[in-house]
Amino acid sequence: MSLIRSKLFWKIVGLYVLLSVPAIVGLVAALQTRMHSNAVSMHEQQVQDFLRETIQRLQQQSDPATAGEELQRIRMGLTGGRRIWLTDSRGFDSRGLPQSDLNDAVLASVLRTTVATGSGLRYVRPQWESSEVLAAGQRVGLAGGDWSVIMTSPATSAVDVSQQMSALLVKSATAAWVIGGLCMAIVAGTIVSPLQVMSQKLHAGVQRDDRGDMLLNVSDRSDEVGDVASALYQLEDELQDRIHSLERAGRAAGASVDLLTAVLESMIEGVIAIDREQRLVFLNPGSRRLLSIGAAIQAGHRLYEAVRIPAFLETVEESLNSGSLRTLEYRAPRENSHHLLTVIPILRGPHAGAVIVVRDVSEVRQLEAMRRDFVSGVSHELKTPLTVIQACTETLLNGALEDGEVARRFLTQIEEQSERLLQLILAMLQLARVESGSEILHVELLDLAELSRDVCEDFRAVAENRGLQLEVSGVDSLPGRADEQAVRTILSNLVDNAIKHTAAGGQVVVELRSSADGPTLVVRDTGSGIPEELLGRIFERFYRVERDRSRERGGSGLGLAIVKHLCQALQVTLTVRSKLGEGSEFTARFPRV
Ligand code: ADP
Repeated sequence: MSLIRSKLFWKIVGLYVLLSVPAIVGLVAALQTRMHSNAVSMHEQQVQDFLRETIQRLQQQSDPATAGEELQRIRMGLTGGRRIWLTDSRGFDSRGLPQSDLNDAVLASVLRTTVATGSGLRYVRPQWESSEVLAAGQRVGLAGGDWSVIMTSPATSAVDVSQQMSALLVKSATAAWVIGGLCMAIVAGTIVSPLQVMSQKLHAGVQRDDRGDMLLNVSDRSDEVGDVASALYQLEDELQDRIHSLERAGRAAGASVDLLTAVLESMIEGVIAIDREQRLVFLNPGSRRLLSIGAAIQAGHRLYEAVRIPAFLETVEESLNSGSLRTLEYRAPRENSHHLLTVIPILRGPHAGAVIVVRDVSEVRQLEAMRRDFVSGVSHELKTPLTVIQACTETLLNGALEDGEVARRFLTQIEEQSERLLQLILAMLQLARVESGSEILHVELLDLAELSRDVCEDFRAVAENRGLQLEVSGVDSLPGRADEQAVRTILSNLVDNAIKHTAAGGQVVVELRSSADGPTLVVRDTGSGIPEELLGRIFERFYRVERDRSRERGGSGLGLAIVKHLCQALQVTLTVRSKLGEGSEFTARFPRV
């Protein structure tokens, strides 16, 4: 970049011109005035000296006539346009002749002043002169009276001298101004050039090292520009350090933000952040899923645009107004689920507003309901046999004990109910063990066919008593991996149910299938069947399709629940098919061997 384009350069030069021109012009003008006045007073002095000398010479003469002759001689030697007269007070010369020159009004006035005061001196312009002359007069006493010597001297000579001096002065001043200007330009150039280089490189965004080198070079100078460059070098160093630490902090902050975002996005709970005006600041995918918030709703929308549950919005409002935590449990409108809302207000700071956390507590509530149902189911199951036992005992105590036959009947009932209680408690204990996983299973290779035949043998007498046909069909040998006791329990429960729910003349078949998907046991009956809509519920604890009749048949209501959990533990797939009035079919498919 050249100096011509430098603003600073032109500012310095402009300042020089601004200050130096009036100063030099003023100085020259003052000097010119002074020289002019000096020239004028010198001229006056010369004229007066000449006049004095002339008078001395004239006074040496004996009479005015000789004085006139002497003046004539002096007049002959006059140069530079000077003129001189010897006159009496009326303007006549020593010979008594009138001197026409002195008739001029201005010279006559000088003569009058001289006659009156003894001397006169002033610049006048006689008619016969083209420019001003200095007119001087002096009274002189000659024999026979007072005479005056009047003389004129052109002012041009003095003015010429002063003009020549002035011209010289102007030339010298101009030369000095130009030299001063050049010096100033050189000085400005030495200041501006390095600054230009620095500014150019700093603006051009050169590499940090190049910038540092350039600043180091300039900082070698021993003047203020060097100081500025070295200060800039230090500043650059500090700046780089600061940029690096900011970059590090930025990276760390970015990583934390990523981590936080990843955590929030992977949360099952819904998390929404809002500001004081209830505008959405953040919402995670969990909140969109739980509250069915569409993709069109983004940060910046109002909360009421995203969530349209009045109780929800009221709780948020309340929390923001009171500045305290609020919770609300509500039934979600779409799915039949329970949500727990927690609103945590943020009272101060740049993120003032609230954090809203929504949790799906349906499972917890379901478990609670199941626990309640279980307790009431257990109580109910225990109550019936206990009531019977209590009634029998009371009857016996009230005298029935005396009658051996009656006593035997009651005692038999007490025994039956006690047995039922025991079976119930054993079933409950087993279910608890299987559910909690504490039932230890010894999975080994078994012949499921042999095991099935064995179990059916146990039930043969019962089946015959009820007039049912119980048979085992299918393959002779069915190897499968399972726990023997568990398979016995599963089969016993299924066969027991089939027998219980099949009327006399019916048939119960245990079919053994060796399929490609794995060894399969099917327990089929021609009994009462189960309504299709209730097929999903028969595996619940204490659930019975025909409550009273099932109970009458001695069921605890836990059999299929135990079967379900054992099958899960053995990785056995259990399915059920049934048609009301036609019969049921339970299929247990074991894992492939
Ligand atoms: P329970 O001890 O009462 O038999 P379960 O849990 O074994 O209890 O069975 C639950 C209910 O499922 C029974 O009460 C009965 O109503 C129904 N059920 C089970 N197996 C059969 C079947 N083979 N035929 C008809 N109903 C059945």
